[in-house]
Amino acid sequence: MIDSPLRAASQPDQATCGVCRLHNDQDAISHFEIHREPLWLLRHHPLPAPLPGWLMLDARRHLGGPIDFNPEEAAGFGPVLQRGCALVRELTGCDRVYAIAFGEGPATCICT
Ligand SMILES: [Zn+2]
Repeated sequence: MIDSPLRAASQPDQATCGVCRLHNDQDAISHFEIHREPLWLLRHHPLPAPLPGWLMLDARRHLGGPIDFNPEEAAGFGPVLQRGCALVRELTGCDRVYAIAFGEGPATCICT
């Protein structure tokens, strides 16, 4: 393995993953959830949100990011990301929506 300063910290396992912990806490997730489907969960960023319109698109199963997608997740990611970003633009009226992948999520749509 290449020793790089850009290499991310080790991935949490499912027992220590903050995303999985939030998904399994029905009381907590009910405050943030926007849309749920078999592979994906679209939710608001936890408060305080760094920017208005910041949405999180989470895989429903534990994974380390897009590199761990199975074929069904890989095929469905683009369309669901597009719908999430369109929702940000529709609700905020912003000119531009950015998508960022942080890892466990695997992606967010933010408005600027
Ligand atoms: Zn997880």
